[in-house]
Order: sequence, then C-alpha cells, then structure tokens
Amino acid sequence: MIDSQARLALESTLADRVEFEVPLSRYTSLRIGGPADAIATPRDRKELSRTLAICSEFELPTRTLGSGFNVLVSEAGLRGVVLRLKKLRAIERIGRDAIAVEAGASHATVTRFCVERGLSGLEFGAGIPGTIGGWLAMNAGIGIREMKDVVRSIEWMDGRGDLMAPVSRADLDFRYRELAGLPDGSVLVGAQFEIEESDRVKVQNEIDRLLGHRQATQPTDIPSCGSVFRNPPGDFAGRLIEAAGLKGSREGAAEISQVHANFIVNHGGANARDVLRLIERARAAVAAETGIVLETEVQLIGSSEGDVA
Ligand SMILES: Cc1cc2nc3c(=O)[nH]c(=O)nc-3n(C[C@H](O)[C@H](O)[C@H](O)COP(=O)(O)OP(=O)(O)OC[C@H]3O[C@@H](n4cnc5c(N)ncnc54)[C@H](O)[C@@H]3O)c2cc1C
Repeated sequence: MIDSQARLALESTLADRVEFEVPLSRYTSLRIGGPADAIATPRDRKELSRTLAICSEFELPTRTLGSGFNVLVSEAGLRGVVLRLKKLRAIERIGRDAIAVEAGASHATVTRFCVERGLSGLEFGAGIPGTIGGWLAMNAGIGIREMKDVVRSIEWMDGRGDLMAPVSRADLDFRYRELAGLPDGSVLVGAQFEIEESDRVKVQNEIDRLLGHRQATQPTDIPSCGSVFRNPPGDFAGRLIEAAGLKGSREGAAEISQVHANFIVNHGGANARDVLRLIERARAAVAAETGIVLETEVQLIGSSEGDVA
C-alpha cells in the first residue's frame, strides 16, 4: 500500500503514467501474478530518475520489469513500485561497429533494426523474447552465444535515480543467466553492442534458421516463461526432467510441456502455486534419479516468501 503523500508525489511526476493496484498477470508471459502497489512507465530518463528519487525518499521498494518473459510473480504481488521502461526504446548506430540501445527496446525492434541495415552480431537474440534490460540482467543467450559476448558497455541508474558512468564489458560480472555486481535497486537504462556490417539477406536467413529451430523444439504458442531451470554443467535440465518421466505432468492448469520438459506452460487460469508445485516435483524427481539439484532460471518474485516458495 502506498501512502497518500507518496502517491501524490508519484502522480505529480508521472501523471497517467502511474497506475495503482495493477494485476501483474497482465505483464508476465506466464499470465500469472498478483497486484503491484504501483506500476510506473516513465516517458524518458529524466522522469525515470525523478521516479527513483521519489521511491528512495519514501522508502518504496522498486523492481524493474522488462516484458516479464522470465518471471514467476507470487499471488500476493509486489509491494512498492514496478518500473516499466518501454518508453525508453531508442536505437542508434554508433560508428561502423556498434549500436546503442535503450533498455526498454524490445528484442523484435532491435532485430528489425539490425536486419534492415544488414548488421550482424545479435541474430542469436532474435528468438529470446523480452527487452534489452531483461537481456542484460539475465545475460540471455543460447548455446553458442550470450549477451556478454556482444555487449561493449552498459548504462545504469542507482536506486536514487543518479545516472552512473557507463561500465565497460571488462568490468562487468556476467555469469550464467545473471549480471551480478550492481547494487540492489539499480536500473539498467541502456547498452552498446558490438556489431559487424554484413548482408541483409544473410542476417535474415540466420534469424529464420534459429527461429525455425525454436518452433520445432519449444512450445511457442502458449504462455510460458521459457526455461524454468538452469542447465546443470554438462547436461540439460529438459533432458533430465524428461528422463524422470515428467513431461505432461500437471498441477491445475499448469503443465510440464509435452514439447520441451524444461518449459512449464499455462493452459489458462494457472497460479503461482501450481507452477511452484511442478517446479518442486521436477526438482525432487531429478534429484532422486541423478543426485543433481536443479536451480531455477526463472526469477521467483513476490511480496511474500511463503507465497512463492
Ligand atoms: C518462449 C520463450 C523462450 C525463451 N528463450 C530463451 C533463450 O533461448 N535464452 C534465454 O536466455 N532466455 C530465454 N527466455 C527467457 C527470457 O526471454 C529472457 O530471460 C529475457 O531476457 C527476459 O527479458 P524481459 O525483458 O522479459 O525480462 P523480465 O522477465 O521482465 O525480467 C527478468 C529479470 O531482469 C530484471 N530486469 C529487467 N529489466 C531490467 C532493467 N532495465 N534493469 C534492471 N533489471 C531488469 C527483472 O527485474 C528480472 O529480475 C525465453 C522465454 C520464453 C517465454
């Protein structure tokens, strides 16, 4: 719950770009999640900075969400302010070998920008749904490439809304599906990526090839959050879950996908508890068969530990 003074401060800065008591199920690809106290969609960096300063002043927790493709939000929702950066979406070419992209730009617009100009380097991201902020925060990638391989530098704001000096790749702590080391409450606002001049058709063909592979191996036409578990060293979480016989297991309307066992899909009306029960079932079965304890890749977030855990 946000008190009236904080609410007034947010409204006087953001006008209709702040909403209160908004169900997060609208903003997650799993279509699951209770209410956020507030959702702010600042129109530019200045407004983002001011919003963070207000949150800091009133001690409101913040969470930046991209497109919600990698989160499982509890039924209790999130206290404080959820920040959405979809209006920060500029993309610009920097010289011959880099592009600068704001964190709210979607994977689709970045891909289109590169294809139209015949720029190569980010083709692997074409099928990784989300925003550039989400790509960076998750060090998103596929077997052959991750964001860390193509990022030149990032831009970020601290929790008080101060824009910090850009950090170059050598000083960033990218890990498997994680960017570590930034203070809590930091917001990624943009990045530069290394690209090469290539040929439009070549870039498009590579994207088509990767998207075709996904269509054939993943459930792409039903709500999910992508891979639920990280792959353990030298193996694949999907293979282990399938070997444990859990493809097609259900809890309510949530199901371990018949197409790819590392995906949990929502057939309509599943809640966070259903998904968590399937996560625990898969973890226990794989541990019993192999001794491997799978770790989640999907970010479990929500105001009450008890609700998501
Ligand atoms: C069908 C499907 C296929 C997928 N395939 C892949 C794949 O091949 N490889 C892969 O790596 N992932 C994959 N994913 C997962 C997902 O696409 C990626 O994790 C993506 O990077 C999420 O981006 P997002 O903007 O939706 O982030 P969100 O899900 O909104 O957020 C993810 C995390 O990043 C944080 N975050 C987001 N933006 C910011 C910001 N600006 N500043 C600070 N923190 C931020 C959030 O707080 C959260 O902790 C897949 C998902 C789906 C549904």
